[in-house]
Amino acid sequence: MTAPASSAPPSPAPAPYRGAPERHPRRPPLPFDPGTDPETVELTGPVFGPSDVGDLDADLTRQHPGVPLGERIIVTGRVRDRAGRPVRGQLVEIWQANAAGRYAHRQDRNPAPADPNFTGAGRCRTDDHGRYAFTTIRPGAYPLPGERTWRPAHIHFSFFGSAFTQRLVTQMYFPGDPLLPYDEILASVPDPADRHRLVATYDHARSLPAGPLAYRWDVVLDGPSATWTEEGR
Ligand code: FE
Repeated sequence: MTAPASSAPPSPAPAPYRGAPERHPRRPPLPFDPGTDPETVELTGPVFGPSDVGDLDADLTRQHPGVPLGERIIVTGRVRDRAGRPVRGQLVEIWQANAAGRYAHRQDRNPAPADPNFTGAGRCRTDDHGRYAFTTIRPGAYPLPGERTWRPAHIHFSFFGSAFTQRLVTQMYFPGDPLLPYDEILASVPDPADRHRLVATYDHARSLPAGPLAYRWDVVLDGPSATWTEEGR
């Protein structure tokens, strides 16, 4: 026989989700005309601003209490448009494997060791001269699934433009890497000049005697000398 409902203990009130207040919007919603097409909305929508990028975001070697393993390097360059003008205030994001060639991602099947002191993601904004600069660890090469080949050392780059729809994604390679001729992604870039532009140059003048080695990689966002991107031009 079923007990009367009145004798059942009262259900406990659901505990408030502790993360809800943190994730709740703190600013009023932006006005939005539903008749506007999505592309136009994206061009006028909010983007990352100067206050969203901290100084330490560009130093991937200082994001954890300990020091990451591997060779510290500096990667700098300038972002220009087709006319050679510097692109200022550009959000530049990078992500990469650690020194052993493993990403801090649960789906990375590479048996190389993880590094608890290296996440492998950073960002900065270009200055008034279009310059960006990162301090990081030289990434290791890693094998592709299925043992087809190895990917040479590389750093993934994203340039956001002035809206999310203008995002460009590409990769930077290191000079002298013996794996460059065997990389499937680099081989998919048909123009040798485009492939050449994806390889950084060693910057001896910036490599301090006891400091990190420096690499320079300049980027052109559009025009005939545009840096190759993964979506095409
Ligand atoms: Fe990669």
